Amino acid sequence: MATMSNSLPLRHGLSLWCPQSASLNRAHQPSSSTGFRSFRRTYVAASSAFTNENRESASEFVIVGGGNAAGYAARTFVEHGMADGRLCIAYAPYERPALTKGYLFPLDKKPARLPGFHTCVGSGGERQSPEWYKEKGIEMFYEDPVTSIDIEKQTLTTNSGKLLKYGSLIIATGCTASRFPDKIGGSLPGVHYIRDVADADSLVSSLERARKVVIVGGGYIGMEVAAAAVAWKLDTTVIFPEYHLLPRLFTPSLAWRYEELYQENGVKFLKGMTICNLEAGSDGRIAAIKLEGGSTVEADTVIIGIGAKPAVSPFERVGLNTSNGGIQVDGQFRTNIPGIFAIGDVAAFPLKMYDRIARVEHVDHARRSAQHCVKALLSAQTHTYDYLPYFYSRVFEYEGSQRKVWWQFFGDSVGETIEIGNFDPKIATFWIDSGSEFQLLPKLARSQPFVDKSKLQNASSVEEALHVARTSLPVEAAV
Ligand SMILES: Cc1cc2nc3c(=O)[nH]c(=O)nc-3n(C[C@H](O)[C@H](O)[C@H](O)COP(=O)(O)OP(=O)(O)OC[C@H]3O[C@@H](n4cnc5c(N)ncnc54)[C@H](O)[C@@H]3O)c2cc1C
Repeated sequence: MATMSNSLPLRHGLSLWCPQSASLNRAHQPSSSTGFRSFRRTYVAASSAFTNENRESASEFVIVGGGNAAGYAARTFVEHGMADGRLCIAYAPYERPALTKGYLFPLDKKPARLPGFHTCVGSGGERQSPEWYKEKGIEMFYEDPVTSIDIEKQTLTTNSGKLLKYGSLIIATGCTASRFPDKIGGSLPGVHYIRDVADADSLVSSLERARKVVIVGGGYIGMEVAAAAVAWKLDTTVIFPEYHLLPRLFTPSLAWRYEELYQENGVKFLKGMTICNLEAGSDGRIAAIKLEGGSTVEADTVIIGIGAKPAVSPFERVGLNTSNGGIQVDGQFRTNIPGIFAIGDVAAFPLKMYDRIARVEHVDHARRSAQHCVKALLSAQTHTYDYLPYFYSRVFEYEGSQRKVWWQFFGDSVGETIEIGNFDPKIATFWIDSGSEFQLLPKLARSQPFVDKSKLQNASSVEEALHVARTSLPVEAAV
């Protein structure tokens, strides 16, 4: 990687942008689109420091983005004494995973609402409500996304034409939800994508009136939304092209048990099915989904959960390395341009323990990468980020649910698998690479001990299997 600098002097402060509702892509859509209406409604320049339209502001540190990574980066700056009038931040960042969990509970089941889940409550930290930022002397700068960057002049331009000079820049723009093209009905009224609070609000108002819900995609977003939809007592179908759900994380056997749990809750599955078209009814709203092969499924509300793309558009074609999809960084989140960093979902970083470049769309990584980057930026910390992939999901957690489920995934889903337990009440899967390496719980995943495979296979319970695994750890890792 080219020359990198992570130590520009601390003089002024830090700015942070975060469009609160409409994603940047939608913000630039023509005025006929729903996204543009929400953009016009919510984009308000609220900070007195920025009310002068074309005024140039200078900040030594600027964060672009206002999501999970930005919230944790702001906290780390504060912990290092870098607030006190010197930080400018946009809409207070929140813990995004809540949007498909507590946020979608039916209205009589105490749904989560802001300010309850502002960062950093997700990791047991302080709730950084707008008041928190105020108290810390952090200016709020409401929605005005960055649209371009001038690397030579070290300036950013926002959608409304404001110019901001930066010393060091942290890009934390996350991802935008992948969409179906308009020409196959991807933007029909009643078709939803979930990335931010405005998306979740719009879905909640559809769920209030819905009868037949179809979820497209068998990933964690689709499965969390399906669990919520049945809490609203709605006819719920999940459609996906693979042969089992969560194919990137689950084995077929694990997926089958998970599907069974959903079926017991009334969810129907159409597996191995590809969508041709989303079709409108006479009122212009979504009415049906046409599948390849000609069959049709009725729906008045559709949620598309088919993945996400890194939000790199303002930073493309300016010399940043985006060849891996996101913005490539080194083990301290430095890009190939001195003084520019990238963290969270948008960063393609060296995943040290698996010796490859990866982009990780997990909240745990967003938090840790933010903390690592800011510490490296503000102190002499030089060690390389050494991340153990961790992902979790929680479903059916609303009041009155028969069974609340929480699962966690550590490491990489590579190798032979051994499954212990029958999901009644627990189940664990161990991925064993070359017959000798574990990947499940953090210690096991990180130290990858040699293990007695037959003992593990013969374990009669998850507890016994974990005991077998634990005893194979080196003494210092086992404690
Ligand atoms: C609905 C949902 C549920 C999830 N559930 C889980 C889960 O259960 N477990 C888990 O591990 N992970 C989960 N995730 C993933 C997790 O939330 C993300 O990995 C995490 O939010 C990434 O943080 P980030 O700051 O990189 O990006 P984000 O949180 O997406 O924040 C990016 C921010 O940058 C802003 N932005 C984009 N472009 C610009 C621009 N040009 N100018 C200014 N601002 C810009 C965006 O508006 C946004 O505010 C979930 C994600 C979603 C969407």
